[in-house]
Amino acid sequence: MKNSDIFINKIREEAKKLGLFKIGFSKPEEIKKEGELFKKWIDDGFCSEMDWMKNNIEKRINPKILYPKVKTIISTAVNYFSDNRKKNMPETGKISRYAWGEDYHIIVREKLINLLDFIKKEYRNADGRIFVDSAPVMEKIWAVKSGIGWLGKNSLLITKEAGSWLFLGEIFLNIKLNSSKPFIQNHCGKCERCIKACPTEAIVKPGIINAERCISYQTIENKSEIPLNLRPHIGNWIYGCDICQEVCPWNKFSKVTTEKRFFPKKIDLDLKKIRKISEEEFQKKFWNSSIKRIKITKFKKNIKTAYDLLILKDDTAKNGFPPSRE
Ligand code: SF4
Ligand code: SF4
Repeated sequence: MKNSDIFINKIREEAKKLGLFKIGFSKPEEIKKEGELFKKWIDDGFCSEMDWMKNNIEKRINPKILYPKVKTIISTAVNYFSDNRKKNMPETGKISRYAWGEDYHIIVREKLINLLDFIKKEYRNADGRIFVDSAPVMEKIWAVKSGIGWLGKNSLLITKEAGSWLFLGEIFLNIKLNSSKPFIQNHCGKCERCIKACPTEAIVKPGIINAERCISYQTIENKSEIPLNLRPHIGNWIYGCDICQEVCPWNKFSKVTTEKRFFPKKIDLDLKKIRKISEEEFQKKFWNSSIKRIKITKFKKNIKTAYDLLILKDDTAKNGFPPSRE
C-alpha cells in the first residue's frame, strides 16, 4: 500500500469518528464543462435575483484561484436525517428538514476544523481552507468527482447508502493525495417523481431548477414579495421546501443521523400564533438555527403568505366562493 493510501485510510477513519458520513478526494482541476453549464443556467435567467451567483464565476471553475496552494479537494457529506415524519397539519408552518435542528454551517465547519487539525498533526506542513456553503465552490460537482454520489434530477446530491439528506463541506488541502474514483453512474434511471411532484414546476429539465419558481428560493433567498401566481402553490411552507426529496425513492434508505444537534427542536409553528412573533421571541427561538439568517421581516412575510392561503381555503370551504382579501 502506498503512503498516500495509508494516510487516506487514516483520514477516513478520523472522519468517521467525527460523524462525517462520507468522504472522498479529488484533483483540484478546472471544471470547465460544469462551469459552462453553470453560466448557461445564469444566462437562462434561472438564478433569479441571486446576483451574487453571477460574481466570482472564475473562482467557481478554478479552485486554485480560491486557494492557490490547493493540491487535493476533500469532499465530505454529513447526514442530517432525523426520523420524525410529522403529519402535515395545514394550520402549522412547515420548515425544511435541514433547518429543524441547529445551524449546519457551524456544526459541519466544526467537524471539518477537527479533521484538518488531525491532518496537520499527522502531516507536518499540511494546511488547508474549509468551505461550508461559504464561498463560490461547486460543492455538488466536487462531491461527484470525489465518488460520494450522483446528481439527481432534483439537482441534489444523492447517495446509494442514505439518499439526499446531506450537508456538504470541503477542505482544500495543500498536500497531494490519491484521488477517489468519481461517481460516474446516475441512478435516477427513468424515475421522474421529483419533477412531477414539484408544486411550482420549478424543475424545468432533469437537474435544472428555475430558482424563481422554487419554494426554497422564494421563502429563503427572495427579499421581495413572493409572486402572486406562486402563492397558491406554496401551501404552508414557511422556510424552504422538501417535496422533491420526500418523494425520492432513494430516501427510503435514509438513516437517522448520529449528530443529535440536527434533531428537531420543539417549536410551536401554529400559523395563527406565530404570525405575531416578536423580534425578541424570534431571536430566542432561532438563535442557533439557520432560520435566523433570513431575519424576522422575511420570516413573517412567509408566515403571512401561508396564513392568508389557509384563511382563503377555510373561507372558500365554508362559503363556497373566494373571499375578498384585505
Ligand atoms: S424544493 Fe420544492 S419547489 Fe423547489 S424544486 Fe424542489 S419541490 Fe420544487
Ligand atoms: S425522485 Fe427520482 S428522478 Fe428525482 S432525484 Fe430521486 S431518483 Fe432521481
